[in-house]
Amino acid sequence: MSGTKSSLLLEHYLKQLKLPTDLREYASMAVVCTSDRADYPTYLLRLAERELLDRERRAAERRVKAARFPVIKTLDSFDFKAQSSINQELVRELMRGEYLDRRENVLLIGNSGTGKTHLATALAFAACQQGRRVRFFTVTGLVTRLLEYREDRQLERFHKNLERVQLIVLDELGYVPCNKAGAELLFDVVSRTYERTSLIVTTNLPFEQWTEVMGSERLTGALLDRLTHHIHILEANGESYRLRQSKHRVKPQGAAFEAAAVTAKNSTDKTEEK
Ligand code: ADP
Ligand code: MG
Repeated sequence: MSGTKSSLLLEHYLKQLKLPTDLREYASMAVVCTSDRADYPTYLLRLAERELLDRERRAAERRVKAARFPVIKTLDSFDFKAQSSINQELVRELMRGEYLDRRENVLLIGNSGTGKTHLATALAFAACQQGRRVRFFTVTGLVTRLLEYREDRQLERFHKNLERVQLIVLDELGYVPCNKAGAELLFDVVSRTYERTSLIVTTNLPFEQWTEVMGSERLTGALLDRLTHHIHILEANGESYRLRQSKHRVKPQGAAFEAAAVTAKNSTDKTEEK
């Protein structure tokens, strides 16, 4: 068989076998292996390794896309010095993902701007890299969806899809109170995940105030019971990172800016008190 004909056939087979990296690199790898005097098994081994790595990378990209993070954040860009109240050791342990095998939950609790969503996203992003299926929701977004799905009789389908996920992020519990139907549907999600799917919940509310969001003491009690049975709690009680950053940026304006920052902080605190 002539060289061109065998190359054409080989390329056809590699396509059929869905080996895109081999297809792209078999010729250049042959040049490298010839110059390294590598034997045939080594050539095949190097190609197989490339194919596998690329396949894992593509799968991780698909999982990140399917998770629907609003913004991707990783631990590399998190400054622990700026938020010394966060238990760094626990964050690093959770990044390894063993809590997911044990179906444990994580609660991030603290004021606005203290990096809760950042850390929740970084943990969930790491889970995607480790081969886990993840889904990110803001609590309000999820409740709106649940109400819509119920209306369209699509709820069971939605729950079936969620069952395939190993980690669900529920971001911003407590910013907007749920109505009765919304609270029950939210409870249903938490209840179905119990000991089956891990949850990461972020909130600005201490437990005592959860009843205000859920609207019912009975439901809040049952939700907390399930959520907190196997839980890791990360507390952030420092200053807002955003506020701190803007203070640094606008420093020359001195007193006027300080006054604005104090007003902003007070209004954030008030929002959180609600
Ligand atoms: P929260 O969810 O607690 O309100 P976010 O995680 O949304 O806060 O943080 C607000 C912004 O500040 C985001 O852009 C986030 O990346 C950034 N941020 C917060 N804390 C830190 C930190 N310690 N290091 C780096 N960036 C941070
Ligand atoms: Mg947030």
